Amino acid sequence: MKTTDIPIYKQEKVILVNDSSFDYDIHSLIKAFFPDEEVKVVLEEGHNQKEQVFLTIIFQTEQILFYKDSNEIAQTNLGNEDLRADIKNKLKASLYQLLSEITKRKLPWGNLTGIRPTKIPMQYLEQNMEDKKILELMKEQYFISDEKAELSLEIAKHEKKLLEKIDVKNGYSLYIGIPFCPTTCLYCSFTSYPIRAFKDKINPYLLALKREMEVVSAAMKEKTLDTVYIGGGTPTTLEADEFEQLFQSLFTYFDMTTVKEFTVEAGRADSITREKLETLKKWGVDRISINPQTMKEETLKLIGRQHSVSQVKEAFALARQIGFANINMDIILGLPEETVDDVSYTMDEIKKLGPDSLTIHTLAIKRASKMNQWMEEHGRLETSATDLAMEIATKAAREMNMEPYYLYRQKNMSGNLENTGYATKGNSGIYNILIMEEKQTIVALGAGSISKVIYSDGRIERKDNVKDVDLYLNRLDEMLERKRELLK
Ligand code: SF4
Repeated sequence: MKTTDIPIYKQEKVILVNDSSFDYDIHSLIKAFFPDEEVKVVLEEGHNQKEQVFLTIIFQTEQILFYKDSNEIAQTNLGNEDLRADIKNKLKASLYQLLSEITKRKLPWGNLTGIRPTKIPMQYLEQNMEDKKILELMKEQYFISDEKAELSLEIAKHEKKLLEKIDVKNGYSLYIGIPFCPTTCLYCSFTSYPIRAFKDKINPYLLALKREMEVVSAAMKEKTLDTVYIGGGTPTTLEADEFEQLFQSLFTYFDMTTVKEFTVEAGRADSITREKLETLKKWGVDRISINPQTMKEETLKLIGRQHSVSQVKEAFALARQIGFANINMDIILGLPEETVDDVSYTMDEIKKLGPDSLTIHTLAIKRASKMNQWMEEHGRLETSATDLAMEIATKAAREMNMEPYYLYRQKNMSGNLENTGYATKGNSGIYNILIMEEKQTIVALGAGSISKVIYSDGRIERKDNVKDVDLYLNRLDEMLERKRELLK
């Protein structure tokens, strides 16, 4: 089957501006149209005359002018708009139409470049707007395709229904990051350290988490703990006795009786054992993730997962046997050298297992990943992240009686698509919705984690812990102080 080629950055698009206020938005939109090119937005005065200019954007008090090859090709009237958000919306609408004309292409998500597109229909639903009107607005204002507008509205409605059952204002969620993995995957851009080299850091790390828990539980004692999510990395790189230690601390400092969802991302099959799963079950973990990413053996090797397809199947069967009734699986579309036939095969194998939820990711190539280096060595990335692959994966999810319940986008996603979580009835990941819709405070513990406090007026304040494990351990007092400050 035919696949789409994504060449590595060989060309660049230079955009000249007279005001740098909207550089980020211009960059994101141009990049969405030209994902395989380097995009530079430069101020006129800093421009190197030898560089060829793709587009010039001039901001004036009442209008924005667009030039190509010294010819004015479009203008946007700003009228009396002086709010930054309104100017930004007009700029993005005009720029999108212009790029569509130039490339003769439309993007599935129109001019939306942010990571949370479902926030838009959610806002309209909260204003009691009718579905028809919401869909119209999404298409007219943001140029979103019919299919994506309908998908995001369906998800927003699902999320809203679920969020109504939770007292988001008086509750909070807890994230605990375990930043260790058996090996590093080719596409990884997360905080992850190879467990073998960090074995002697585990105990100090668990003690550091305990100290963070002490501070957080004191600061949040008036609030109700709604969900707990242990992610990574790969949390199941911890041994069973280390999980015991972690859970002892958790249950000492927090009232876990109010928790509606307790997730551990088991993640990689090569880290899962009966003893570990039994320990999770004993402590009340009710949602786990076993992530194959693909069911093609050769791809697993190529992306450095170092586990086999049969290990995934065995881990899944073991988890079911131990009694886990809510198991999520993650797959990635667009992995190197995969075709849409491979995606069909992966979906057939997953259907045989029958997970309770499935997250369909499309590969996002991050600068920090080894993937970038791989692409430099191989020149091109054959990717299956096409509309057809997405269609195959979502059809399979629907055939497993799943509905889409959360969605997010990332920068540099293959095929300009999205990541969508599907779940069978009653198995939507509540934490995933909370983090995407930014409706509830999430306090995050561990190296590289980011806490987010949501105020009643909708304001959001973030504080992160340093990424490096050694720095995190050495500067723990400073991290604790930051947390006290944030949560006071
Ligand atoms: S399992 Fe996840 S966190 Fe670990 S290396 Fe792979 S992508 Fe990164």
